Amino acid sequence: MTVPAFLLSAEATFSAAHTLPGVEKCERFHGHNWRVRLTVRADGDGLDETGMAVDFRLIEDALREAVADFDHAHLNELAPFREYAPSAERLALVVCSRCTERLAQVAPHTHVDAVEIWETPQYRVIYRPA
Ligand SMILES: [Zn+2]
Repeated sequence: MTVPAFLLSAEATFSAAHTLPGVEKCERFHGHNWRVRLTVRADGDGLDETGMAVDFRLIEDALREAVADFDHAHLNELAPFREYAPSAERLALVVCSRCTERLAQVAPHTHVDAVEIWETPQYRVIYRPA
């Protein structure tokens, strides 16, 4: 059985370098123009007085904040990736955690439904939290 829900998405992009030790070719220092999409779920069919389930700008702001320190960075040097290499999957986990925290403050009636990260136009990871 499915319950009614609105799913809303916003996207952001950033350019960043990484290395993935132990992965052929990827262990060489290289960069990507990453694309990331945050989809949030607002359960139920309730809308606010403006007719919105959640303002797109809140979603976009949460996502932009979540990736702000990634842009033009060497990802392996950032705190979340010092212990574990910044694979697309791990980037998705960090973005999900940061956006979950932010949305709890600004739009507590929503939940992160999915974080999608494109490492290249052909390669995408989708992470869906429990
Ligand atoms: Zn790569």
